[in-house]
Amino acid sequence: MLEQLREVVSSAKAIVAALDPASLHALDAVSLMDEFTALERIAVAGRTFLAARATDANEWSRRGYRTPEDWLANKTGTNWSQAKNCLDASVKLTELPAVDQALRAGKLSPAQLNEITPALTAENEQRLVKAAASDSARQLRQRCQHERAAQRSGEEELARYQRIHKERSFRSWIDPEGAWRCEAKTTADVGARIDAAIAAEAEKVFKAAHAEGRRDPAAAYRADALVNLIEGGGSTVDTVVVLRADATKIAGGEGMCQTADGADVPVEVVIGEILAGAFVKVVLTDGTDIMKVSHPGRHIPEELRTAVTERDGYRCVRPGCGSIHRLETHHYRIDYGKRGPTAYWNLATLCRHDHRLATNRGHRLDGGPGDWKWIEPP
Ligand SMILES: [Zn+2]
Repeated sequence: MLEQLREVVSSAKAIVAALDPASLHALDAVSLMDEFTALERIAVAGRTFLAARATDANEWSRRGYRTPEDWLANKTGTNWSQAKNCLDASVKLTELPAVDQALRAGKLSPAQLNEITPALTAENEQRLVKAAASDSARQLRQRCQHERAAQRSGEEELARYQRIHKERSFRSWIDPEGAWRCEAKTTADVGARIDAAIAAEAEKVFKAAHAEGRRDPAAAYRADALVNLIEGGGSTVDTVVVLRADATKIAGGEGMCQTADGADVPVEVVIGEILAGAFVKVVLTDGTDIMKVSHPGRHIPEELRTAVTERDGYRCVRPGCGSIHRLETHHYRIDYGKRGPTAYWNLATLCRHDHRLATNRGHRLDGGPGDWKWIEPP
């Protein structure tokens, strides 16, 4: 087989060596180009079929490469991610009969194979092979991005969201120039609220400046807005954060919805915000229905109270109590007096007696639904 292939390569080399495009009829140039394209595809197909098995020779570690991908990239003159895609495709091919067939038939270009590989599954391979034949490169890229987004399970997205929440941070420092600088990280929904508040306040700062005949860059107004808001001098503004959500996910209470920037936010967070009457406008993804526009309020909306009581099984959640009488809604994580939000996650059902212990006598409710703890005062 090797001898046979070597003969093919050397004939192809001889043809290229003798090529003189100027002497060709243009239509012959088209035909020759088609054949070279076919040759390229079949060559990439062969290489893809062999790549995984070739790494078993361990040449990559003997030659001092850190990974098989580094070795393959160097060997084939591709970059690391192309080499990785080639190896991934090589490994996956046994479970992808449609791709296997398309490759052997020379129906996939190197670029197309590289594009679809990260998105390929047994479920979508026929779809993607078909799309490769008809889509433009740009369309194929978008299609693959959608396929990958659809594959990321709700759980992975939720885990990522929770990690980002855990890694939330704010730091500030004085730079060499003597300027105060800062850097922050938090979840996309919190960020969207901050952005909306700054944008609304910046609009007011701009109008005030304009009235006085001052002009500054928009970024400067946003900086002024941030200071106003933090120092409490900001006017109360009706900010609205738009979130896109799927009606079935809202109903099921699971999965992710998106901020206007396309970042993922767990649907349970959104439900909490809707119920809490926070600065949220939820637009259903079918695009026709705006579910709710609501504003922040100091009182607990009745629908939220109902949702919390229902979650808590119409009982006081204090372990050992479970009373069904005189139920009240308690801000258990962040106290109402400390501007604790009337959000789903901050509320719990307590009987009036326990609610008083928690509010006035230093007792504390901790944990969460399914895992409530009652901490007595020291
Ligand atoms: Zn109780």
